[in-house]
Amino acid sequence: MQLKDSYDRTIDYVRIAVTDRCNLRCFYCMPLEGIQYEPKAHLLTYEEITRLLAVLGNIGFRKVRFTGGEPFLRKDFIKLLESTHGLNKYDAIHITSNGTLLEKYIPKLKELGINKINLSLDSLDAERFKKITRRNDFAKVIKVLHRLMDEGFELKVNAVVMFGINTQDILPLVQFAQNHPVNIRFIEEMPFNGGYKENIQIFKATDIYRIIKNEYPSLSTQTSKHGETATNYIINGFKGDIGIIPAFSRTFCNTCNRLRITAKGEIKTCLYDSGVFSIRDFMRSGVSDEQLTAKFIELVKLKPKNGFEAEKHKKNALGREESMSSIGG
Ligand code: SAM
Ligand code: SF4
Repeated sequence: MQLKDSYDRTIDYVRIAVTDRCNLRCFYCMPLEGIQYEPKAHLLTYEEITRLLAVLGNIGFRKVRFTGGEPFLRKDFIKLLESTHGLNKYDAIHITSNGTLLEKYIPKLKELGINKINLSLDSLDAERFKKITRRNDFAKVIKVLHRLMDEGFELKVNAVVMFGINTQDILPLVQFAQNHPVNIRFIEEMPFNGGYKENIQIFKATDIYRIIKNEYPSLSTQTSKHGETATNYIINGFKGDIGIIPAFSRTFCNTCNRLRITAKGEIKTCLYDSGVFSIRDFMRSGVSDEQLTAKFIELVKLKPKNGFEAEKHKKNALGREESMSSIGG
């Protein structure tokens, strides 16, 4: 089965925030004092998440990404990976992590066949990393980055580019891909930072492209995979490659294939909507799997044409209270 939305897009990818808690304080994501975390009872349980994934697997979902908050911060996260693996419904089980707590789980991830990780790293400069994340974990993240590469993981490095903060990191990060088999992805900053920063000046994808192209004229576009938000590029002689994600400019919405479930079980049909339905409350009201299935089919039809449409209909037009930590990035 293939699930289509109202714009004939095939929706087969779900991203789930397993927690809204985090051990870093990346300043584009949340304020220094953190966000108001949901009480634990408000978070989806692992049993609930596994049930949702079983239902979604039956209606054509083939890829799941666990994110957060920091997914490895939630107790027994590995159990959720095991139960998801046990469903035998997903071609791809991926994780986005800040890397600080990941290293000891590498053997288990390999055992489960989970070999694709997105690691967040906005700078290769220890001081700037500290300034951005407000924590001292640079060495840990670099270590895990190398371990993952050595162990043969397919690795993407996510770097949010912030005007006046880390644009000087663009070229060193690009250079890292010269000798390492990684996909370095530059992401436009979005205004989901827990209400802490107003009026962000966006460093646009087109500006990122220009900086890289200027230094590496052989930079050339690769064909994108189904649903990919990044435009990918190769550079002659490089082991790795480069991606640029126009997360704020939103030029990729016409090929969007995703549904999001926030830590407290809100369905987001678009990153820029304010949550359209509490699947947690629906499940906790005692519905059957058939009712859940019908609800997902209905919700997917609500998916807006693009992120600008979604934003127009947002309950809170600015949405500044939201943090990527609870949305799930
Ligand atoms: N804690 C994990 C991590 O940092 O990888 C997973 C959750 S984090 C919210 C997921 C992704 O969202 C990260 O790559 C992060 O850089 C990105 N992100 C967070 N806030 C963002 C923002 N305001 N604009 C763009 N990307 C953001
Ligand atoms: Fe934590 Fe990830 Fe947000 Fe950074 S981006 S504060 S690591 S959830």
